[in-house]
Amino acid sequence: MNIIERWNSLPLRFKFFNVFLAIMLLAGGGMFILDNQLLQVVRNNDKIINQSVPNLTTQLQVKSTIMERINYVTLYITTGKEEFRAKFEEASARARKIEDQLKESALPNEKAGIEKFIIDSEDWEIILRNQVIPVYQRNNPKDAMNTLNEKAQPFAIQLMNEVEELSQRKIQAINESNQKMFEDARTSVHVGYVVIGVTLLLALVFSYYMSRSITRPILSLLRGVRRMTQGDFTARVTVASQDEWGEVSKAFNQMSLGIANLVEELRQANVRLREESERAQESTRLKSEFLATMSHELRTPLTGIIGFAELMHEDAENRLSPAQKNFTRNIIKAGEHLLSMINDILDLSKIEAGKYELETTSFDIVEMIRSTLVMMQAKAKQQDIALVLETAYSSLEVHADKTRIRQVLLNLLGNAIKFSPAQSQVRVVLEQSEDVITVRVIDKGIGIEEDKLERIFEQFYQNDGSLERNYEGTGLGLALSKQLIELHGGSMEVKSELGRGSTFSFYLSSCSEKTTDYCACGIMNEQDALLVFYTKDFMSLFPYFSQKINKENRTVFSFVIESKQEAINIIEQYPEYDIVFAVPSFCPAYVEMLEALRKCTQRKIFAYIEHPLRLVERGQIMRVADSVLSFSENSPAAFK
Ligand code: ADP
Repeated sequence: MNIIERWNSLPLRFKFFNVFLAIMLLAGGGMFILDNQLLQVVRNNDKIINQSVPNLTTQLQVKSTIMERINYVTLYITTGKEEFRAKFEEASARARKIEDQLKESALPNEKAGIEKFIIDSEDWEIILRNQVIPVYQRNNPKDAMNTLNEKAQPFAIQLMNEVEELSQRKIQAINESNQKMFEDARTSVHVGYVVIGVTLLLALVFSYYMSRSITRPILSLLRGVRRMTQGDFTARVTVASQDEWGEVSKAFNQMSLGIANLVEELRQANVRLREESERAQESTRLKSEFLATMSHELRTPLTGIIGFAELMHEDAENRLSPAQKNFTRNIIKAGEHLLSMINDILDLSKIEAGKYELETTSFDIVEMIRSTLVMMQAKAKQQDIALVLETAYSSLEVHADKTRIRQVLLNLLGNAIKFSPAQSQVRVVLEQSEDVITVRVIDKGIGIEEDKLERIFEQFYQNDGSLERNYEGTGLGLALSKQLIELHGGSMEVKSELGRGSTFSFYLSSCSEKTTDYCACGIMNEQDALLVFYTKDFMSLFPYFSQKINKENRTVFSFVIESKQEAINIIEQYPEYDIVFAVPSFCPAYVEMLEALRKCTQRKIFAYIEHPLRLVERGQIMRVADSVLSFSENSPAAFK
């Protein structure tokens, strides 16, 4: 493994740590070297100054001993006092010592100059000792003075100059050392700049490298993810390192490989599914074709059987015993049941085979519902169940196959009546919002368990599938109804609560708004039915009111009306029905409306006012209505 491979295999945190350590070492090392260099320069300079300052002092002392000696000799030869000679000797001895010190502390480059000065100094002292002092002692002061002035003094001045020269050289050496120190310091500072610069450069290179080593795998992963989101599951990313990113890249590659395999499996499963679905469709088509042919073939003899049974049942010559009459009735009933089942199967088969054709026309759905309710009235009455229509419309046009929609409604009403207890109410509610017409059939019957709600639309499904079941039926009605509504482009749904009742709703698209022209139907001839008109502000009270009215066991057609003209239009179509006019509280406008109704019908008009009436108000209403309705616990006489 070479160094690059080893570096690549390091975890990210170690890479960061190593890079940080390297930069720190570089910066720290550089600063340490620099520091030492500067210290060395200062120390060298210090040494030179430390050596030079005592040397200069010594040179000054040398100068002073020269002066002292020549002075004492001068005093000695002018005064003759021995004490000056003694002082000369002392100064001479001190001068020796100082000269020795000077020699010792001399730097190598000064040594020659100092030695020359010492020899000269000795020569000069010899002149004083041999040519001045003995001449004076031999009583020749004049000559002594002459030698002192002409020889010794100029020589002393020369010596002083030599010392001065030595001092000057020393000072120059100090200056040079200072100069060198400044230059060294400057060089060190420059080196410092270079060290800092190099450290910064390295830090920059390392941070660029580290950021690249983080962003590169991220970008590569991002590209991979993008390709995968576009459905390319062959996307793989390069595993450039063995660190955490390397692990993530490997995991990504494994994941995309897994997904690619999964997608391939799914694709194959899809192909199999499609093949199977095509096979299933084909067998459904064949089954439907078979059923259609069979149903058709069965219908012809069955119609014959029913026809002949009916002929027998009529018994024109009165030859059948009561028991035989009963048999023929049973044959007819069973035959009709079988025929309706065969018809349903035939319809379903046609729909499944895609051969069912709707005969669409524009018709008034309010009228269609009303006439259907009339058709179901006898059956409802048998079970002591009241049928109620609730709608805000007097007429509503739809474009659909009227017979089929009626068939659906008949089936829903049939079920609602079948599964409702006696003395309950089955309501048909008709609503319209935007372009959708909703028809709801609401009962308070046995209801359906939640988990069975989907299944009831399956063919031949009956919630109570036991042999000894309580309700008749084939289990085909809802399946066919749903298919018929869907064939119209609509939908059907159910909401139900076990033991509390069910609501079956179907939705159709409407082709026109509410129409004011009331459309005649002429099917209704149920003398017992009631036309109930109520105002919008009575809507919230209506459910309670309709429960009460239900006790009368009369078919109820209820309408929300907004104007008296709407009510008059409806009455004109159904002049044979009694009328109930329900409002929440007394208002003169209602009296006016009642007057208008009174003028257009001979049938009874009942007024219902929720809030208690004052005597005067009751009087006003009684002038136009036949009676004011009120409900007590048992109030069947209210409509009399
Ligand atoms: P059936 O001829 O049995 O009524 P349907 O297809 O019309 O066949 O209904 C299927 C099953 O759905 C019924 O057997 C019944 O269990 C359930 N069902 C339908 N309508 C109602 C309802 N209004 N209340 C309770 N159960 C219902």
